[in-house]
Amino acid sequence: MKHIFNFSAGPAVLPQPVLARAQAEMLDWHGCGMSVMEMSHRGKEFMSILAKAEADFRSLLHIPNDYKVLFLQGGAIAQNAMIPLNLLAGKSADYAITGGWSKRSVDDASAYGKINVVASSENDQYRAVPDFSSWKLNKDAAYLHLCTNETMSGVEFVDMPNTSGVPIVADMSSHILSRPIDVSQYGVIYGGAQKNIGPAGLCLVIVREDLLDRASALTPAVFNWKTQADNQSMINTPPTYSIYIAGLVFEWLQAQGGVEAIEKVNITKANLLYEYIDSTDFYINHVAIKNRSRMNIPFFLRDESLNDAFLRGAEAAGLLQLKGHRAVGGMRASIYNAMPMAGVKALVLYMQEFARTH
Ligand SMILES: *Cc1c(COP(=O)(O)O)cnc(C)c1O
Repeated sequence: MKHIFNFSAGPAVLPQPVLARAQAEMLDWHGCGMSVMEMSHRGKEFMSILAKAEADFRSLLHIPNDYKVLFLQGGAIAQNAMIPLNLLAGKSADYAITGGWSKRSVDDASAYGKINVVASSENDQYRAVPDFSSWKLNKDAAYLHLCTNETMSGVEFVDMPNTSGVPIVADMSSHILSRPIDVSQYGVIYGGAQKNIGPAGLCLVIVREDLLDRASALTPAVFNWKTQADNQSMINTPPTYSIYIAGLVFEWLQAQGGVEAIEKVNITKANLLYEYIDSTDFYINHVAIKNRSRMNIPFFLRDESLNDAFLRGAEAAGLLQLKGHRAVGGMRASIYNAMPMAGVKALVLYMQEFARTH
């Protein structure tokens, strides 16, 4: 098998043992004679897969009992509409724009009610989270929406603003399970699976129970958090195979020592890359040090005419999908939980060698 390291922002690298296990169980899951893909979602086999995936996810993030976990479809983007439909209840909502994804959330949510942009780093090319003292929060907002890790520009929140009780709704798609979080600080946490959890299409939503009573009557049943919570995410057929793979990823993460242990590895991996970038004039990262993402590391060659040569050489060296997001340009290395340390070391070696020969 060709040996590569995959730096894609998403769909992204999965732990190799997870793929090997899925392969081994593909034709016959635990001796039942069926593939997971062929099982009834209401049968005892799949119900056990779902129950274990939820229990493991809860224990990895220490999710309190007064939060529901939903396994939904439509990726993270579908939540851009589900959030206002489920939470606005005739009020307005606060949104912070810290990158391309939170901006998209504002655009999508604006169809459903009054959205107030309370902070924006757009004029600063999304290089930092604006200082909380400048945020114009509204005390009567239905919620405050944030994207806590901006995948395109590589900006990560390190703390949360004080909202005086207004629930925080956080898009954590690209760093969920990469670091411990205090779930009780949030009203809703959601994440598309294809970065740190599993296959694209699945979206995990963690929602505090007291927020389940305010959905608009126009909310479609499959998008209604309460309806889904009351039906174990099975108001329609859930994405069964994606949930199975997510469950295998959770088991893998537990075997690594959980979120607390993987955070240490993630810090070491990110430091290795940032320290090299900062040590040379050949490459540059523009993000404020405090907000530099541990998961998505964009960088630019000072001489952008070398971009194509850099990418061609990287591909030849087995370092794939390093091209930056089309809205940002340059390069981006996404180093999710499943990216081994060896991959980051190989990337730094390649970058050093490229700088030396150019
Ligand atoms: C990838 C991503 C999304 C989009 O997810 P889809 O599955 O395409 O809907 C949304 N938010 C963030 C932060 C992302 O990284």
